[in-house]
Amino acid sequence: MSSTSYSNEGSTVAPASGSDKQESRPSSLLPLTPGQPPVAVSGKGIYITLEDGREFIDAAGGAAVACIGDGHPIVREAVKEQVDKLAYVYNMQLSNEPAEELASVLLESGKGAFELCGFAAGGSEAMESAIKLARQYWFEQKQPQRRHLISRHMSYHGNTVTALSLSGRPSWRAPYEEILQHKNIHKVSPAYAKRFQRTDETEEQYVERLRQELEDKFLELGPDTVIGFVAETVVGASGVIPAPKGYFKAIKSVCRKYGALFILDEVMCGMGRMGVTHAWESFGDNEPPDIQVIGKSLGGGYACIAAVLMSKQVADAIRDKNGFWKHGHTYQAHPISCAAAVAVQKVIAAENLLENGRQTGEFLAQLLRERLLSPDALARPFTSDIRGGGSLWIVEFDFTGPEGERADLEGQLFARLVQARCFEKGLVVSVSISGGNAEGDERDEIIFAPAYNITRKEVEKVVDIFVESVEEVLREYSCL
Ligand code: PLP
Repeated sequence: MSSTSYSNEGSTVAPASGSDKQESRPSSLLPLTPGQPPVAVSGKGIYITLEDGREFIDAAGGAAVACIGDGHPIVREAVKEQVDKLAYVYNMQLSNEPAEELASVLLESGKGAFELCGFAAGGSEAMESAIKLARQYWFEQKQPQRRHLISRHMSYHGNTVTALSLSGRPSWRAPYEEILQHKNIHKVSPAYAKRFQRTDETEEQYVERLRQELEDKFLELGPDTVIGFVAETVVGASGVIPAPKGYFKAIKSVCRKYGALFILDEVMCGMGRMGVTHAWESFGDNEPPDIQVIGKSLGGGYACIAAVLMSKQVADAIRDKNGFWKHGHTYQAHPISCAAAVAVQKVIAAENLLENGRQTGEFLAQLLRERLLSPDALARPFTSDIRGGGSLWIVEFDFTGPEGERADLEGQLFARLVQARCFEKGLVVSVSISGGNAEGDERDEIIFAPAYNITRKEVEKVVDIFVESVEEVLREYSCL
């Protein structure tokens, strides 16, 4: 194994052999991971080509971003046209055509749930914006005592200080714990039936337990001091965890009872990733939020763009009483980013990609189940779950037998070994981070988040390489 390593979302994987070129390459980038990542030079669809000519299949969509793959001619033309027309205006002085068009597309997609939107350059920035919007809402409502936010363990909302404070990613929080917000941000349990629903309770009783826990938290803090509740509609990077049925209905009822805002983070699971435009349409009990954050699949990787969508109630409080949102960033509503995002959304609609994402996603899950869970599958004893929806799936491995560890992996996470082996074979997959228990142990989980326009043939190839990698690692560590 080469000493150079490449990391995908914080996890280290080895590059393919023959990558000596990268070992001596001086990198001008701040090391975000051990080693130096190889340099990508071009992309087409789900394929990425490196400077040494190697070609990779990106089955992770980068970080669940590349929803229409790379190099789409319609987006390329739209971006070129916008560069020629207008590169930049400052959104606090002037709006611009692509921003207005993108806002219309998004508000329409909410079917009445949203009244206004604001743009940001990325998911964390948009999360910060959403939290500040929620706080300003209460400030304008003359309820400045509303200062607490409630989020969940086993969640990820971004890497800026407030977004990380909302998150339950212990290993990434650790270096910053002393500067994170603890006074105003509080955590309740994740909604993760497979791990935390007790054997003596039904799904309904489990949901009621979570609802009661949230209500107790409101009462402990003082119900009229809570700004709102924040959650990913489908937990993404921490383990692809759809909530049990009825959960969001119950949670929203607590927010309504005490007048707090219901805030959904759909940075990863939104804009088609789950096979519907907004994940709450089918994974969140069809309960639209008061404030919603979207990112990744909004621009599909063609632009740095995210957005905050807000209900009429929130919009009215901001614009009617005070006139404007006391918040802004230099690059918000950037014309080129907005033009790219409009084009990406047009491609998704014109090419019927939500449907394709649903179908290829189901096909991916079916093949994974056949190859990993069928009675004669070599990996069956170690594969504990395959879950997800739309174009977001996870395979969970479990090496803990009834009497402890079933194999000596030399202290390494199986998922990371598999990820590295996939990488050597030209396949990029992600490993979930802190997808473990509320305290944050790491779990053996591999995430697939391919572009919505992946073909069935490509899905077959992805599964072939993945299963081959899984079996090779199992053999290598004498697990079989
Ligand atoms: N929220 C969720 C649910 C995410 O998955 C992410 C990124 O993975 C973020 C927020 C932060 O987005 P960004 O990395 O664009 O800042």
